[in-house]
Amino acid sequence: MSGWVQIAGLGPGDTQLITPEVQHALSQATDVIGYIPYVRRIAPRPGLTLHATDNRVELERAAHALELAAQGHRVVVVSSGDPGVFAMASALFEALEAGPDRWQDLDIRVLPGITAMLAAAARLGAPLGHDFCAINLSDNLKPWPLIEKRLRLGAQADFAMAFYNPRSKARPHQFARTLDILRQECGPDRLISFARDVCKPGETLTTVRLSQAHPQMADMRTVVLLGNSQTRQVGRHVYTPRRSG
Ligand code: SAH
Repeated sequence: MSGWVQIAGLGPGDTQLITPEVQHALSQATDVIGYIPYVRRIAPRPGLTLHATDNRVELERAAHALELAAQGHRVVVVSSGDPGVFAMASALFEALEAGPDRWQDLDIRVLPGITAMLAAAARLGAPLGHDFCAINLSDNLKPWPLIEKRLRLGAQADFAMAFYNPRSKARPHQFARTLDILRQECGPDRLISFARDVCKPGETLTTVRLSQAHPQMADMRTVVLLGNSQTRQVGRHVYTPRRSG
């Protein structure tokens, strides 16, 4: 049997939010590869090898997946949420581009999943109901000044914004700086929501004005959604109207 690689998104956490397409791929796989907590979400079964690796080895993990597929294995590379959103799909194509010619004809597919910002938005109401953008606040793979530029321009364009990887122990000050920039650009009354462990046990959703936001409200298990200038609360929901201007 010939091998393949499918890069799959497991959704935000709840098994009900794993698509049937991803479940089917997992049922056909001989190998599942991914970051330790994501691989832990896959039930072991005879004939399936689970390869759990550390977070910082995306390119090696991708090359490993491609090599196993070249040897005839059926490989699912797992990410949380959607694999194309700050996750493994790009890493796999980077490895493919840098890899040997014999990988070029491999059967490779990306299977979408529900990304954290959309799961969080659904829980909150419709904060991303008009134009929006998503920014990864980690400066592991890009310089911090570029992040600041994107924050300012996104705010000036009046996008609602979703922030991934907002605050880690390794860079605790940058999210405080992010909030300062947002207060400068958007003023104190803009709504900001902190969605932690969305669709997992212990989920928390907190919505405040920028003036009340403080850095400790976010960590690496939080996706942060900033409203645009029209975003408002109705009852316990947050929504952004579909019209502006
Ligand atoms: N591919 C993933 C994102 C990976 S980056 C996706 O599409 O969702 C990791 C970041 O995603 C985390 O730091 C956090 O900001 C966000 N995230 C992922 N799952 C989450 C969840 N269940 N609840 C809140 N934020 C989540």
